[in-house]
Amino acid sequence: MNIETLALGPVQANCYIVTDEKTNETAVIDCGEYTKELADRLEGKNLKYIMLTHGHYDHIFGVYDLKEAYPEAQIVIHKEEAYKLLDELPSFGHEMMPGMQKYVPADITVEDGDKIQLGEIEFNVLHTPGHSKGSVCYFAEDERTIFTGDTLFCLTVGRMDFFDGSEDEMLESITRLYNMPGDYEIYPGHNRATTMEYEKRRNRYMRRFK
Ligand SMILES: [Zn+2]
Ligand SMILES: [Zn+2]
Repeated sequence: MNIETLALGPVQANCYIVTDEKTNETAVIDCGEYTKELADRLEGKNLKYIMLTHGHYDHIFGVYDLKEAYPEAQIVIHKEEAYKLLDELPSFGHEMMPGMQKYVPADITVEDGDKIQLGEIEFNVLHTPGHSKGSVCYFAEDERTIFTGDTLFCLTVGRMDFFDGSEDEMLESITRLYNMPGDYEIYPGHNRATTMEYEKRRNRYMRRFK
């Protein structure tokens, strides 16, 4: 698995380009803006999926243009989050950049336990509400890698005060992440990558389990 990280869009959220080197099948995980750099990096790759961790504007503003450039790529998002691709109110696009969100429907809506096959990489969907109702993490067990969106960050967790967020749900989601066996490389929606072992020791939302 090859992972490239770009910071894109209005608040420079992380956009990950994940490629299965054996088959060249590629997924983009979150896309705050479709830039020339992203287009260049995708050249020659077989983009199969645009996988979204949730529907906030800073993670989806580039999805329309990316889909235009790669009509075969399937947009993947949790079933309770998909409507935000078609409405700038719940995506918060209207607050930050009113009238700028280009609407594009999901191709595949997922729920907890679903799997997405990218070449020889198997992604699992872990529904982790708390930051938003339909937030998910995508993890590849064999690759020991998890993409956590705005659920789990290095040393903290995502905001829980949005209209469909919930502190109780977040703590439950963090418990599920904490209970995943073994270590994982963590690729969050903002800021730097980290590991599950590190977060279990240092992140105050995880330390409470000890
Ligand atoms: Zn968010
Ligand atoms: Zn975000």
